[in-house]
Amino acid sequence: MSKSLSGRRIRLGMVGGGEGAYIGGIHRYAARLDDHYQLVAGAFDVDADRGHLFAAQNYIAPDRSYSDYLTMAQAEAAREDGIDVVAICTPNFTHFPIAKAFLEAGIDVICEKPLTTTLQDAEALAEVVSQTGGFLGVTYTYSGYPLIAEARARIAAGQIGKVRTVQVEYPLEWMATGVELQNNQQAAWRVDPHKNGRGGSIGDIGTHAYHLAGYVSGLKAESVLADLATFVAGRALDDNAHVLIRYEGGARGMLWSSQVAIGCSNALRLRVFGETGSLSWAQEQPNELIYTPLEGATQIIKRGRHDLDATAQARTRTPPGHPEGYIEAFTNLYSGFAAALRARDEQNSTAGIGALIPQIADGLKGVAFVDAVVDSHQQGNIWVQPKYC
Ligand code: NAD
Repeated sequence: MSKSLSGRRIRLGMVGGGEGAYIGGIHRYAARLDDHYQLVAGAFDVDADRGHLFAAQNYIAPDRSYSDYLTMAQAEAAREDGIDVVAICTPNFTHFPIAKAFLEAGIDVICEKPLTTTLQDAEALAEVVSQTGGFLGVTYTYSGYPLIAEARARIAAGQIGKVRTVQVEYPLEWMATGVELQNNQQAAWRVDPHKNGRGGSIGDIGTHAYHLAGYVSGLKAESVLADLATFVAGRALDDNAHVLIRYEGGARGMLWSSQVAIGCSNALRLRVFGETGSLSWAQEQPNELIYTPLEGATQIIKRGRHDLDATAQARTRTPPGHPEGYIEAFTNLYSGFAAALRARDEQNSTAGIGALIPQIADGLKGVAFVDAVVDSHQQGNIWVQPKYC
């Protein structure tokens, strides 16, 4: 963490994300789009040979394609031109040891969600971040959308008044049958409690929804009451979750995550209702935000307008009418991480950087949420206070 970032791209490494993997490719697009990063090293696959092949196909120098992440952390830390930051794109249960290894080697981290599979590991990782002074960004993708920034700014400015209810849902259909038994790489580890964590759908996608609800509304959860279900026979984890949330100040929330909702491709939707208006946004139509003032006409706010909040404008690349979406939202996180790293580099301090990007505290809150949800369900659907919120 001592190498100056001045006047050059940030050197990026990647763990996971090899051939046939899902999210690693999205990270690579996101790192490239605004041109802040250069991917120079990786341990791309749990199978070393496959990882090396993938590295060669992606123009990674052979001496920077590693057979495992531990060797990579040590070798990159020892190089003059070693990586500045590593992207962790592996299944959940590996996030903790990999992030710890890189942070302790002096390398910053961009980590996938959920941060870890246990709260104990999340707490231990927060301790490592604090002791090393390293940076850890968490890729809660959906907080990167421009109109999410707009919704957040409008609520903070009081445009819908005091928030009464937050309704967030994240239904998917891809696990509506036992795909984990049909050679589906992504499903296989997601149904394994050791690899996915205590929560099934609630850990995998509920954490996205929970973060988004808090990010936009500005509210802190006080307690949760959950009803989990497993609809596909043979699964050890929930594939559907309904959660009631009590927020500070009396607001109420309702969160639904589902991996078995037929007809829903990636149907994340957020609605926030206040005393004087409401806002509604859906990930499958991300270029429109719906605003309704009390007793007024419903308005469609389009991405790209010049009268939007400064953060929403900064997160926009093209004028209205030219659709932007998932890759750009992911890029906004990557560029936010880059800005945070450069700010720390220039100020020699981590104070106050990157307030709008998800970091270690947000990762910790997500894992605490999953823990509270599963406790609530297992203890007879009682109200439980997340340890961090
Ligand atoms: P995946 O199964 O498609 O890919 C995992 C990759 O990690 C594979 O290439 C595998 O070989 C590699 N791997 C596993 N262990 C490794 C190790 N020890 N060293 C090196 N490589 C290793 O998984 P996925 O669906 O891409 O999910 C990966 C992570 O991304 C998960 O934590 C998941 O929750 C998260 N995710 C986030 C989003 C998002 O929107 N932010 C979307 C999908 C997945």
